[in-house]
Amino acid sequence: MPSSDEPEAPLVLVADTDSSVAGALAGTLAAAGFRVDEVLDGPALLEFCAATPPDLVLLDVRFSIEGGVAACRSIRELPGGRAPAIVMLHGADDDDWIQPACEAGALEFLAKPVHEALLRHRVARALAWASEQAADSPAAQSGQRASGKRIHGEPLVDATEFLELASKSIPAARADGKHVAILAIDLDFECRDGSARSDLHPARIEDYVSSEVPGRIRRAVLQFEEMELPGPACGEILVGRIAPTRFAVLLPDLDRVQDAAKLGTRILEVLEPAVVIDGRDTRPSVSIGIASFPTDGDGARDLIDMAETAAYCARQEGRGNLQFYTASMSRWAFERLTLENSLRQALEREEFLVYYQPRLELPSRRVVGFEALIRWKHPQLGMVSPAQFIPLAEETGLIVPIGKWVLRTACMQARLWQKRGFQPIRMSVNLSAVQFHQPSIVDDVNGILAEVGYDPSWLELELTESMLMNDVDSTIDRLKSLKRSGIQLSIDDFGTGYSSLSYLKRFPIDSLKIDQSFVRDVTSSPDDAAIATSIILMGHSLKLNVVAEGVEDESQLAFLQVLKCNEVQGYLFSPPVPPEQAERFLTVLTEPDSSPADVALAATPHRRGGEE
Ligand code: C2E
Ligand code: MG
Ligand code: MG
Repeated sequence: MPSSDEPEAPLVLVADTDSSVAGALAGTLAAAGFRVDEVLDGPALLEFCAATPPDLVLLDVRFSIEGGVAACRSIRELPGGRAPAIVMLHGADDDDWIQPACEAGALEFLAKPVHEALLRHRVARALAWASEQAADSPAAQSGQRASGKRIHGEPLVDATEFLELASKSIPAARADGKHVAILAIDLDFECRDGSARSDLHPARIEDYVSSEVPGRIRRAVLQFEEMELPGPACGEILVGRIAPTRFAVLLPDLDRVQDAAKLGTRILEVLEPAVVIDGRDTRPSVSIGIASFPTDGDGARDLIDMAETAAYCARQEGRGNLQFYTASMSRWAFERLTLENSLRQALEREEFLVYYQPRLELPSRRVVGFEALIRWKHPQLGMVSPAQFIPLAEETGLIVPIGKWVLRTACMQARLWQKRGFQPIRMSVNLSAVQFHQPSIVDDVNGILAEVGYDPSWLELELTESMLMNDVDSTIDRLKSLKRSGIQLSIDDFGTGYSSLSYLKRFPIDSLKIDQSFVRDVTSSPDDAAIATSIILMGHSLKLNVVAEGVEDESQLAFLQVLKCNEVQGYLFSPPVPPEQAERFLTVLTEPDSSPADVALAATPHRRGGEE
């Protein structure tokens, strides 16, 4: 609960005549921490805005009978108070509304179907922009957007003018047999001291973007014109600011569309170096997407949207990326949106399950623990693999509640088995980097253990090498706190990252799990055999428990046994199974003379191998 002196979350009003669209948008924004309400017709919209002025209205261009642009005007004409920021939603077929919408005061635009991450991004930006307008920009207070400014004597156009000029360039290029390329440039900022971007004052970011960025882009354009486009001057390259931190560049008559990437690379070079904003060392993070006529389409609006989709995809690949638009990007963005929506609801709808895979000690082949592995039983898609949804859950932050749920469920299961008289065994739970970097992680884990009444010494957390590499000193502190609570720590998928001995020595860990990619070919690939051997020897020299995962046949097992690998896990014994099946291993354990064959049979009575 926010304390009373904490500012309230911004209020967003979703105005869309289609109640299912309105509901979905409202759901996304509510999950992102906004206060949200919905209206479905014009009178309700105005009544709402008059009674409870929202901070932002998400307004469909085809809203109600009068349409979104008229509604936008009516909101602005309401007496008293400050007008909300307005973000217009539009469909691919909607036309001729941009200019009037801008004149009516719309600040941002978003194409339908709405990409969820873009929605959050644009709403946050429009709010930052609007609050800054209200605070100190006299030009902005009169409702003007960044437009018509001149940089180094060249015009910097706004979104409307950019669209207009881009539209004009297409027939001209068609007549000359040339290409038109549009580059969408998306800027974000992060503090180099690791503090959140939200710590930077929006007004200072805006100062930087307004005063520095257009000049830098222009410099890249000039270099590009001089170096890459020799010969008689071609059509004028146009730079537009299409939103507070988004720019676009129009290359109106290119012979080769690949040249657009050369300009993109130069823009990355001029924008990426660290800068000081608000007294803080800050790294701009730039993503560029490119779409072109005739390859991708012949409508300027569509090309801008495609370039922006490509910039969004480029951002997923990490900072400083550039991508050309491909048709699969829209499909990918749509599929991702669908998956992300259902992932949000999966916890509530109890669609997750935890399966357990036994870990066996060598040479006895006694079960000494289970690894808890999440499964998602999607109502339409069936079982969705964690490899598919964990990365998405990490990106959206959903991994934090999901990860807590797995930890609680696995500990409760292990505690239940103990209560029922089975001998205690270790429960291993995977921890994502996003969870590990939460400041509250140690308290969260301890809290769950206390709540469930599970002894920490029977819990192991599986971490990955890469997540330990950022800020090594604070990572070690965090690991030490977990160790002080009595929890065991292992490094999962070992061998795929920075596996140096000196690095390992610094971390207070108990086990190494050799990545299954080395185990798979341990008997056929001399390289993999050498890697597995060196990991086992290195692990032993550091007094670590070494576990091999992905053991599928007896020859791999024999190899590992000769090297005195301490534990194994894999389909040879059992795939991950539901708790009722996992319980059979505990039953076998309590029978003193059980053989390895009993162990294998315990989990999958009719078959060994992967999951069904
Ligand atoms: P991991 O932690 O390395 O888990 C081992 C993976 O190998 C599991 O895949 C397991 O089913 C599979 N496996 C086990 N034995 C064999 C074998 O003999 N052959 C082959 N080919 N595969 C085997 P799964 O369950 O699909 O999980 C994939 C990854 O997803 C996990 O890799 C882990 O990184 C992640 N994951 C799963 N559950 C969770 C979770 O609750 N939280 C987090 N953060 N990540 C999870
Ligand atoms: Mg694991
Ligand atoms: Mg692994």
